[in-house]
Amino acid sequence: MRTSLKPLLADWEWQARASCRGMSSSAFFSPSGERGSRRREREERARRICVGCEVVDQCAAMALRAGERYGVWGGMSTKERAGLLPAPAAPASARARRVVGE
Ligand code: SF4
Repeated sequence: MRTSLKPLLADWEWQARASCRGMSSSAFFSPSGERGSRRREREERARRICVGCEVVDQCAAMALRAGERYGVWGGMSTKERAGLLPAPAAPASARARRVVGE
């Protein structure tokens, strides 16, 4: 069987031009238990790095496509990305209850 890695490599080449390349991931991901103003401030610092990043669009698109659940990607926090994604479908039982008016 013959396979090619080229399409996979092309998907990730943009990361070589990332402003965050070589930085600690702690700038973009919350440590366990981080909340409130501490979290908002860390996310804001991460966003300021992303603003000047030449691959911000590719990064944001990849995070949305992959459904990244954690961290700041493409200048967007987890919460901001969640606001752009369609809501998960309600379980069939919940849909059925709405249809019958329960
Ligand atoms: S947009 Fe932000 S997280 Fe994405 S590659 Fe650039 S600096 Fe890194």
